Amino acid sequence: MAKILIVEDNALNIKLFCDLLAAHGHQPEAVTDSRQALDAAHELDPDLVITDIQLPHVTGLDLIRMIRADEQLCDVPIMAVTAYSARGDEERIRAAGAQAYVSKPISVMRFADTVEQLLKGEGEADPHVDAGPQVGDSSGGDPEGGAVTE
Ligand code: MN
Repeated sequence: MAKILIVEDNALNIKLFCDLLAAHGHQPEAVTDSRQALDAAHELDPDLVITDIQLPHVTGLDLIRMIRADEQLCDVPIMAVTAYSARGDEERIRAAGAQAYVSKPISVMRFADTVEQLLKGEGEADPHVDAGPQVGDSSGGDPEGGAVTE
């Protein structure tokens, strides 16, 4: 059983996420106001944080950065959930410090799988994820570069 902090301003999503997590034996706690999220995280000391990105006041991106910069919370895994996935969003979210990214409307299975992987300390199983330098890349160059897949 894991303590999971949910930061989400939409009541229906909170209910959905809490029900899903409880069904998997976890202990979810939700915060609707992102200005209270950091305090709530300090108090709960969660095993995982699930945060919406489109939040009033403190955006999910800023919250992720704040958690990563926090002495107590810097190692907690973060899963971002967002309804908008404009090109580059996923990169920005990951660069801010989230380990996983799930788009809304969520796939229940993907949501649950990602939660379990993060709790196990694994990255998400994403078939789209770049497996790193390809064969023949012995230049030791920029590992982010050279992506010419699209
Ligand atoms: Mn929202």
